[in-house]
Amino acid sequence: MKKIRLDALMMDIKVPDSVSYVDDGVVDSIGAHENFLNWKRTGDPECLFDKTKLNDVAGTTYFQKGSGEYRFRIFYLDDSDPNSVICTRGHEETHFVHAVKRLDNLENEMRTSVGVDINFKNLLKKIDSKNARREIVAEIGGLFAVHRRYGSEAVKKYSMKYMSEFSHRSNPIYLKALNKL
Ligand SMILES: [Zn+2]
Repeated sequence: MKKIRLDALMMDIKVPDSVSYVDDGVVDSIGAHENFLNWKRTGDPECLFDKTKLNDVAGTTYFQKGSGEYRFRIFYLDDSDPNSVICTRGHEETHFVHAVKRLDNLENEMRTSVGVDINFKNLLKKIDSKNARREIVAEIGGLFAVHRRYGSEAVKKYSMKYMSEFSHRSNPIYLKALNKL
């Protein structure tokens, strides 16, 4: 096992040695960065000209399995609002936490650091699709990142903005838990 630091969530998680994780930081274009990574991975120069995802504005993770190894990379745009950069980054880190099955660590961290108590297991049972499960949990992680770094007033204000198609489902869950404090 090894320890991986997640900077936006401000926590460490332990993962098997076969898992690698890289935070590429802020990039100019999500699509161009994905193309670059695909080119590096495959050696196929055609990857560099793939324009299918060039309109993405949010950070993206990708996941690759080869010889029993799991590789994760996260990267995101800087839209000059510090709340949304940290939220996007926390969102992507949460995708990673979810994928390596460490949501219980995140749940503990949320409870002990800011007092927000959300039971992910119960929440996941109530969500219909796999994609919605992934995205709603990631949105909650993003809000926690804003909360932990900038405080409860910042996260209240920020969660009024619906940044993704899942925000209208995730944000009220976070706000409800926050209002219980
Ligand atoms: Zn996502």
